Amino acid sequence: MNALPVSRPTAQANTTTPRHLFDRILSAVTLADLSAPAALGVIAALTVLSWVAAYFLGGGTNVAPHWFYIPVFLAGLRFGPLGALVTAVISTFVAGPLLPANVATNTPQALSDWVSRGIFFVVIGQFVTQLFAGVRRLSEREVHLQAEVELGTTELQAREARFSALVQNSSDLVTIVDRDGTILFQSPSVARVLGWDLESTTGTSLVAAIHGSDQQLWRTIVDFLVEDAGVEKVAEWRVRHADGSWRVLQSIVTNLIHESSVGGLVLNSRDITDQKALEEQLRHQAFHDQLTGLANRALFAEHLDQALRRRSRMGAGLALLFVDLDEFKAVNDLHGHTLGDELLKQAAARLRATLRDADAIARIGGDEFAVLFEGVAPGSDPRIAAERVIEAFAQPFRIKALDVFVTASIGIALDDSGTESAEDLLRNADLAMYAAKTTSRGRYEVFSTGMHSMILDRMQVEVDLRRALDENEFEVYYQPIVEHPSGAVGGVEALIRWNHPDRGLVMPGEFIGVAESSGTIVQIGEWMLQHACKEFAALTRGVAGGEGLYLSVNMSTRQLSDPLLLNTVQSALANAGLDAKRLTLEITESTVMADVTNAFRVLTELRGIGVKIAIDDFGTGYSSLSLLSEIPVDTLKIDRSFVTGVAKRPEPARLIRAILLLASDFGLHTVAEGVEERDQDEVLQGLGCQASQGFYFARPMPATQLGELLERDSCIPMGTV
Ligand code: C2E
Ligand code: MG
Ligand code: MG
Repeated sequence: MNALPVSRPTAQANTTTPRHLFDRILSAVTLADLSAPAALGVIAALTVLSWVAAYFLGGGTNVAPHWFYIPVFLAGLRFGPLGALVTAVISTFVAGPLLPANVATNTPQALSDWVSRGIFFVVIGQFVTQLFAGVRRLSEREVHLQAEVELGTTELQAREARFSALVQNSSDLVTIVDRDGTILFQSPSVARVLGWDLESTTGTSLVAAIHGSDQQLWRTIVDFLVEDAGVEKVAEWRVRHADGSWRVLQSIVTNLIHESSVGGLVLNSRDITDQKALEEQLRHQAFHDQLTGLANRALFAEHLDQALRRRSRMGAGLALLFVDLDEFKAVNDLHGHTLGDELLKQAAARLRATLRDADAIARIGGDEFAVLFEGVAPGSDPRIAAERVIEAFAQPFRIKALDVFVTASIGIALDDSGTESAEDLLRNADLAMYAAKTTSRGRYEVFSTGMHSMILDRMQVEVDLRRALDENEFEVYYQPIVEHPSGAVGGVEALIRWNHPDRGLVMPGEFIGVAESSGTIVQIGEWMLQHACKEFAALTRGVAGGEGLYLSVNMSTRQLSDPLLLNTVQSALANAGLDAKRLTLEITESTVMADVTNAFRVLTELRGIGVKIAIDDFGTGYSSLSLLSEIPVDTLKIDRSFVTGVAKRPEPARLIRAILLLASDFGLHTVAEGVEERDQDEVLQGLGCQASQGFYFARPMPATQLGELLERDSCIPMGTV
């Protein structure tokens, strides 16, 4: 393990120095190690001993027997000058006169002689005692100092040990590098934080382990720090973990290059990878749609803003695609939210796969997606991208063994002028999408300024439609269908009319599309069924042969995916007292194609209760042939576009012949639509068409007029239809 490069004091307490030996002797001599009573005992014993010695051996001086010095000195050393004085007085003035005269060299003459000797003895004793006391004080100071040094050293060592333990055990990583980034020291936590081997990585370059994109930050910080000693900086960088991953470290870098005990840049680093990941996750959650993982509206708005700023700098064009899933709501209602969610996920994945070249794709609403293209060049024409999306969405989505058909309608807003704001672009793309939906589903439309008023008109229609139902502004017109060759009315087609308070009589072409896209068609359709069935039943009730007439009612795509359709039809029939056999429901090929599986199921159910099914506008769809083999159908209504030219050009006639052949193969009843002229009628009859409908025979008419017509004309029985 490498040591922290801090200096340590080397002074150690040495118990065998001469100084110490002297101290030991001194404390022994001065009786310092003895307790006060023990020392008193020793001194008393020595005093008595000095008397005995003086008595028998005599004194060594002519002043006082020198044996007396010993206890006096000791008493002085142990108990100070007062102790020495007391001992000297006792020895000299108490014992002295008791001694025989020959003890001293000069025999004492008198007590005064003893007193003068005693005083001299006390003075000398005091002097020597003071000397010893001085030496002892010095020695004690030395010892005290020594003790202080030892205490200081111990404290220092403890402090260093504490600091070292802190560094060694710190969860943070402490690294010291020189100004080139070479690691001089690192704390053991490097093994935990970066998975590095402490020994082998010390001495290597820290910079080499920093992520390439963060190395410039390192250099900037080092350049800044070396200018000023002691300054610190906080930075975040990615450092390579031993397992190859990148860990984000937050480091406080301090310049301690000039600190001799450190001599480098100190990095106090904390691993904030998890924190960063969490932050990133939260950021992601805030700016992404949880379901599809695409950017959300907020992030898209940011992308768009940035793109617009770049556009103003670089002068490059922008395009915005607004993609809306057709019939998503119906799918959601019919199959449930789990399937709806799965559909959205798959739709998002399909968008991503189709629009790799897009700069941003976002989910900005329930079933709405926005796509941004920057620097739009001819090669990356957004129209081509829109076509690709529409094509991709033409394929069914496979969800839980179900084939779900959901087309996409797209609005495109181009930033040709280079002055559009983000809101303008989004609104324009939205309006263009709306415009695309109005004609039919699965199309795109590029925004144009005229769209605005057109869409406002449509919105007005939408508002008016809701009111129209409440105000009972709708009316049913009936157009007779004439059977061949009898020429009698076989049935009627119910066609809706809107008596608008301001606009007068409004034809279905002007509002059915709006009703369809806004969803009101379901209520209008229900009203139509209820009303037409009841009225028709009443009109035909009193008419001769009226029971044999049938009623044909148009169904929209939305109505077909309405889960309550069967109930609606049954209740309409029941309320009207109309036999199910007398009702035909007309649907177009595109309605069937929108969701073949659902169409098959619903039409089978309807046929199950006796209702007949007609394919309206036949021939204008795409998969006519395969459709007939799959879908339960009774009647084909040949579109007016074939009928118009049938008497003049061979091509329509050929097509009608082919349709009639096909119909007879499948055992289907045939009706020609839009017959306006006698020639057309003749050719159609010649080709074998079984019935005709058109202005040539009768225009659509109100109920009262139909009543009169039925009273007048003969009707043919149902059995022949
Ligand atoms: P459609 O079902 O094909 O109805 C026939 C349309 O052709 C009717 O137009 C009718 O007036 C018109 N027509 C009939 N004979 C001739 C003719 O000889 N020449 C010409 N030029 N036109 C002829 P209308 O009533 O305007 O209805 C247009 C379409 O609106 C209908 O076409 C149908 O798709 C839809 N529609 C009408 N009523 C309803 C309804 O109650 N529900 C739904 N979902 N759609 C309806
Ligand atoms: Mg029709
Ligand atoms: Mg038609």
